[in-house]
Amino acid sequence: MTTRLLGLPAAPGIGIGAIAVYRPALPSPATTGVAVKSPPEEWQAFTVAAARLDAELEHQAQNENTLVAELFAAHRVILQDRTLVDGVQRFIYEEGESALTATHKIIHELTALFRSFEDEYFAGRAVDIQDLGRRLMSHLSPAVGWSQLSHLAPQTILLAYDLTPSELTLLAQERIQGIGLAYSTPTAHSAILAHSLGIPMVCTLGARILQLPPGTSAVVDGINGLLLIEPSAADVAEYARRNEGLHAAQISARRDAHTPAITGDGVPVPIFANANRPADVEQARAHGADGIGLLRTEYLFLERAHPPTVEEQAAVYREFAQQMPGPFVVRALDAGGDKPVRYIDHEVEANPFLGLRGIRLLLEKPDLLRNQYHALQLASLPPEMPTNRPTDTPIDTSTDIGTDFRFLLPMISTVDEIEAIHALLEEANCALPRLPVGAMIEVPSAALIAEAIAERVDFLSIGTNDLAQYTLASDRTNSAVARLADPLHPAVLRLIQHTCQAGQRHNKPVAVCGEIAGDPLVTPLLLGLGVTALSAPLPDIALIKATVRRQTLAACRHLAQAALACATAGEVRTLLENFQV
Ligand code: PEP
Ligand code: MG
Repeated sequence: MTTRLLGLPAAPGIGIGAIAVYRPALPSPATTGVAVKSPPEEWQAFTVAAARLDAELEHQAQNENTLVAELFAAHRVILQDRTLVDGVQRFIYEEGESALTATHKIIHELTALFRSFEDEYFAGRAVDIQDLGRRLMSHLSPAVGWSQLSHLAPQTILLAYDLTPSELTLLAQERIQGIGLAYSTPTAHSAILAHSLGIPMVCTLGARILQLPPGTSAVVDGINGLLLIEPSAADVAEYARRNEGLHAAQISARRDAHTPAITGDGVPVPIFANANRPADVEQARAHGADGIGLLRTEYLFLERAHPPTVEEQAAVYREFAQQMPGPFVVRALDAGGDKPVRYIDHEVEANPFLGLRGIRLLLEKPDLLRNQYHALQLASLPPEMPTNRPTDTPIDTSTDIGTDFRFLLPMISTVDEIEAIHALLEEANCALPRLPVGAMIEVPSAALIAEAIAERVDFLSIGTNDLAQYTLASDRTNSAVARLADPLHPAVLRLIQHTCQAGQRHNKPVAVCGEIAGDPLVTPLLLGLGVTALSAPLPDIALIKATVRRQTLAACRHLAQAALACATAGEVRTLLENFQV
């Protein structure tokens, strides 16, 4: 009989196949049969292996795929950390261990240490340390490998407690059908990566899935967050039919990726891309994006010892501009919360998501904000424009057009913050063109006073990932409450509508840049609520454009009214599923 396990949809799509359960463990050096040599020889073996892995990671850090690149850059930082290197040296020279055993021991120690931290972010880094440790050990001995993840049967549904970025990258080479995770959340790195690789994934299924017998037939429904075990022939046939429909829609959407997204009743809807690195910008263009609607700049600031200089930043922003004419919405550093910055020392916070995050941190460290804005001003100039012109020769912004950069402020919760930022930016460099400044609406207070905010900024962008977590009071990194943080909850929808009305009254565009902007099921609802542009993950852009072209704004408004009258997110989802265009 079919068992249906409900989890959370983490990467869209449908996978049909047979179960393989992945239970990774730090490999035991005892099983490799490697003889111990003298300490200098073992040390030499370690340094060679570490150098090889470092070169490999450096190559992967320059990988096209943003998320993989970022995570491998973070792995390089762990590999080069003194705690790890000194620990290996100590075990080799003081305890006479082999390089392999010394590495195993220090990785074991560090993993246990990080797991013991109460802070979710640091506890989560244990996965990265173990991941790196396993790779380092495989460089020290070919007997240590990833055998379990290689050569999987082509129709595999992989079940695991959680997966690391390296494991997911390996899976990209295997033609697996889908992934079910016992733990994790839809906004975790593994989910975003699976999404970008096109592998359907469901998370938060609970540890029971790890007890399922290998070879059992299963379906991963990454759209509804379901894992079907031993599906009936009718279930399999129905899912196969839906899968074919999804593929056909993707193929047809990609064919028209460069056709503008205009609704049936003639309303153009710009579809932008969410991006982090130059490679993304290049891809965004290929996917048919009308610009970049959210450039997360955290990677420029995290994983390093000092903040980037104005010149360094300007060079990066110019590189972006070369890939695409814009518009380019660049978000100011959104650190704090689950993204601590090493060189900003602030008190350890009991609730970092409610603490010094985003704009609050920037107001404490105004140089970070001023420098980022200044760098963007410099990057926005046409190449021939002198950057050292005297302040008494103002630039004519109506003719001196360079790149269309716009500056987005994260985590705004009060009007005072906007006033303070305006004052700071005016001091930044008044001889250079002023850039449009926008506010992210991702805190309920900001949505409720959106009118006052819209009056003071040039555009609004709704961050539904955070707006859902703050409205429903459920930490977006905590698997136990991840189900609650549903952006389709009517309370979140009312805040979106309220924000859109404020934007309309002040004639300011209102975009959505959270993950739901990439879900075609939600597109008509967002348009009906009054959203004027969407900024979506790269793989979703063509499909969202095609979805917009099938709507009329009148029907979308009708749908939005019905959704606003719902009492639960479940009712809203049912309404959207039944909405035919
Ligand atoms: C959001 O909160 O919806 C958003 C787009 O920002 P981030 O996911 O980076 O917090
Ligand atoms: Mg956010």
